[in-house]
Amino acid sequence: MNTYLVVILASLVLSWLLGIVSNYYNKRHMVSRLPDEFRDVYDDRKYSESQEYARANMRFSSIADSISMAITIGFILLGGFNWLDQLVRSWELAPLLSGLAYIGLLSLASWTVSLPFEIYQTFVLESRFQFNNTTPWTFVVDRLKGLILTAILGGGLLAGVLYFFGSAGEWAWMWCWVLAVAFSLGITYVAPTWILPLFNTFSPLEEGELRTALEAYARKSDFELEGIFVMDGSRRTSKGNAFFTGFGKRKRIALFDTLLKEQSVEEITAVLAHEVGHSKRGHIRKQLILATIKTGAVFYLLSLFLDSKGLFDAFGMEHMSVYAGLVFFTLLYTPISMVLGVVGNYLSRKYEFEADAFAAETTNNPGAMISALKKLSANNLSNLTPHPLVVWLEYSHPPVLERVRVLKNR
Ligand SMILES: [Zn+2]
Repeated sequence: MNTYLVVILASLVLSWLLGIVSNYYNKRHMVSRLPDEFRDVYDDRKYSESQEYARANMRFSSIADSISMAITIGFILLGGFNWLDQLVRSWELAPLLSGLAYIGLLSLASWTVSLPFEIYQTFVLESRFQFNNTTPWTFVVDRLKGLILTAILGGGLLAGVLYFFGSAGEWAWMWCWVLAVAFSLGITYVAPTWILPLFNTFSPLEEGELRTALEAYARKSDFELEGIFVMDGSRRTSKGNAFFTGFGKRKRIALFDTLLKEQSVEEITAVLAHEVGHSKRGHIRKQLILATIKTGAVFYLLSLFLDSKGLFDAFGMEHMSVYAGLVFFTLLYTPISMVLGVVGNYLSRKYEFEADAFAAETTNNPGAMISALKKLSANNLSNLTPHPLVVWLEYSHPPVLERVRVLKNR
């Protein structure tokens, strides 16, 4: 059997198996007694609801992962990639357009497969726990906007990559690297003004106690903030959140309207301080550098495999092409991406602790950070006791109980 095929099938099955095992351990790791730290934000009923929510999510992800793995493996073994290639070739398009059509159709197929799961998750699962505020209309419009945006932005980037690998010879990976980095910086730059407003309304936070407190904190910690915005997150979910957009001197903070309803001025200031901590401790810069290095490495690796006949044989291809090679490389890359994901999550969890510490120090009010975290997790019904293996594999943020305990023991 073809070695590439063995590696790809094995890593698909392995990643599916890891998901199933994670869910199993996670379920067994739940404790029925509410941790003492959460007595003030949870009662027993709400705590058992949070566990039921975690269990429902695990059941859902197990089923969704199993189906999508079965479809992927079936498509590979039944020669779907070659069949689609023959179909696209029969249209006799220019090479670049063939590539866009091939990858575009594959993406559209995968989007279609995931659609019923998204519908179920939004309108059944999230609704059952009173999180969902998305109307069917918003859902449809969101998906259409997402499709158009992906076609324009993703299609543009893909066209560039196909062009360079088709014509730039051995330095093609370098050109693709430059293109991809410039592209992602460009997206970050225009996201707050062009992209995010397509999905949500951002209105400047009204004058008042909260605004004064946040601006005072930013000034005190010498942090340039272009604006403080309230986002109508409640259009889709009752879960709360906050995030930064833009970069350099054009940073904005967006607070979910749901967060404003739940949290006090001190707590929201702690949330801002945590985000400022990420910036002041250099996390954003470090992650940008790592992502840049990773992008270069991925394109270099891709260039090594693009003319490997064995890789195309694994999928029963009659013709070799840059576009199909790109797809196969993505599958071959699965195990590396899993390892990098674990390393990335480890770093990210470390940064979360650092940002919490920064917030506690600079606001001089660790209690506010603690209660902000507790309220957020209660409001979002987070799993308070995930299994360490699951944290290690999947969590970009430390479990909230650990964060609270670390903050308390400062
Ligand atoms: Zn954070």
